[in-house]
Amino acid sequence: MKKKDFTRRQFVSVVSAGSVGVVASGAVTGFDKITGMTQSTGKLAILGGDPVRKNKPWHSWPFIDKNVVDSIIKTTNSGKWCRMGAPNSTVTAFEKEFSGMLGARFFVGTGSGTQALNTCVEALEIGAGDEVITSPYSDMGTIASILVCRALPVMADLDPDSYQLDPDDVERKITPNTKAIMPVHIMGVPCNMERIMAIAKKHNLKVIEDACQAHLAEYKGKKLGTIGDLGSFSFQESKVISCGEGGGVVGNDDVMMERVFTVQNHGTTRKGITERIGPKYRMTEFEGAILMGQMPGFKERHEIRNRNANYLRSKLKDFPGLVPQKQYDGTASSAYYKFAMTYHKEHFNNADRSKFLKAVTAEGIGLSGYIANGLHKEPWTDYIMNLKVYQKMYSPARLQKYKSELNFPNCDNVCRDVVILNGPGPLLGTQEDMDDIINAVMKIYENRDKLNSI
Ligand SMILES: *Cc1c(COP(=O)(O)O)cnc(C)c1O
Repeated sequence: MKKKDFTRRQFVSVVSAGSVGVVASGAVTGFDKITGMTQSTGKLAILGGDPVRKNKPWHSWPFIDKNVVDSIIKTTNSGKWCRMGAPNSTVTAFEKEFSGMLGARFFVGTGSGTQALNTCVEALEIGAGDEVITSPYSDMGTIASILVCRALPVMADLDPDSYQLDPDDVERKITPNTKAIMPVHIMGVPCNMERIMAIAKKHNLKVIEDACQAHLAEYKGKKLGTIGDLGSFSFQESKVISCGEGGGVVGNDDVMMERVFTVQNHGTTRKGITERIGPKYRMTEFEGAILMGQMPGFKERHEIRNRNANYLRSKLKDFPGLVPQKQYDGTASSAYYKFAMTYHKEHFNNADRSKFLKAVTAEGIGLSGYIANGLHKEPWTDYIMNLKVYQKMYSPARLQKYKSELNFPNCDNVCRDVVILNGPGPLLGTQEDMDDIINAVMKIYENRDKLNSI
């Protein structure tokens, strides 16, 4: 173990590497010059030392400016609060603007990302007796969107380095009843879509992208959400563009996208003919107004997050203690809803992640864990086993097999080891803010022998 330890000198040269105009040879001075940090060592804040960052708030979220406020007031005063009563509605304007940004033909707003995903499942006529393969490392909305159609959410394990669905395990989970794959672009970073699309094609399956965290991320020349048959977004408060609760579906097929509109409009077409099954999921004009108010600067904020994330990646490049989320070939940009890293405790004197997080928080840095447990650990799996419709539509042998396959060791490790920085908010900060993060990590690394005592 000792031999594998990263020396201070190595660390310093790592954090120096990649910075323009700085020669890494002067180790400590070089590091100081880049980061402006004069005290790279010293006592951990949690043990009474000076924190790396003091009285410097992080960029706040959600994003509020005059534009957003004015937009809401305008809608309030218009008296048109529902898109159906407003032919030139704000929701319609947002749909046009957002689909344009995604380079897609159509976008239909909904009241949440969960609603958007559920609209996709319903529009693709997936229901009782059918199976959809998805990730256990996601928001519960992903699974809920499948369950409310009484289809079976079949989970596959993760690639431990990208935290995304492992295409090989997806392929293993396909049965004659599988109808679709729902890849989740977790953290707003692209899945291995090339492999997933190839598997879907080979087995004649639909692909519904859960792009609820992945606004404007780009993979092989396409924006996420526009690669599969349909894609879903969330505008929930924490997301990179938000209106409290909101969502929507993107797609290029006009027939399918009319159907998407009809489904989220209680089965009623734009012309007023009720012809399908559907809940009422319409986005309100107020939600549209907040989103429209946030459009100016939205692209710029995406670029800032990418610039900061790439900067953090360059600093951590050769440091084995915190390894940034793997990106697949073809990833041009990520939404960075979260900047995620894997914590390797063997490089921190075997201290558990919780100790590292305690120490880093005391230094004034907002790193945290993310999803505590995979969705396979929640009691809904027992609930559906005992539900009449599931017992009717799925054979006892199928349900038995389903239960026995709820075992995802990579997902469990990811839940245990991932450390995140929030994207909206902290990742919108300055390079100096990013340096604070790196400095705090280095300080803790240098003091790793004390971590187990905190
Ligand atoms: C937020 C989120 C959802 C659900 O969206 P809501 O708007 O909260 O319903 C689904 N999947 C992922 C990956 C999400 O992050």
